[in-house]
Amino acid sequence: MRDIQEIATAIDAEQPVTRAEADAVVRAIGRTCTGPFKSMSERTFREFLKRVGEDTAFTKEERESAIAIAQRAATAQADAAGIVAAFRTQGHVQGATLANSMFRAGCGQDLNEVILAGPLDGDEHLVPCPGCGREVSYRAPFIRTA
Ligand SMILES: [Zn+2]
Repeated sequence: MRDIQEIATAIDAEQPVTRAEADAVVRAIGRTCTGPFKSMSERTFREFLKRVGEDTAFTKEERESAIAIAQRAATAQADAAGIVAAFRTQGHVQGATLANSMFRAGCGQDLNEVILAGPLDGDEHLVPCPGCGREVSYRAPFIRTA
């Protein structure tokens, strides 16, 4: 089997690869289900704001905008999913990631198994997670196998 970079180059050129190579390329990126959203409580929301304030991965500006986005969403009665969606809409990736990690129940299912069980057709798919049942949407990679 070729190395991951050689396989990726072949896939980009729409050349066929072996099934084992396709599996290796998909598995090169870890994808784990984060589980369904928990119901939002005042305590969880306060803990989230505290974590944002202490997270050194955020710059001062990112911290301030994250707190503003979360408070606007909460004022609009947003639930956990709504707060994550507000971060995504504002392009605040770190905020969305932190909110997802704190507001979801966790699951741990390897989603590469789900992707590899389906067609590698480049299309969008919506399937239930085998671990927790939540609907998982993903775009399958377009990979031709020989
Ligand atoms: Zn799951």
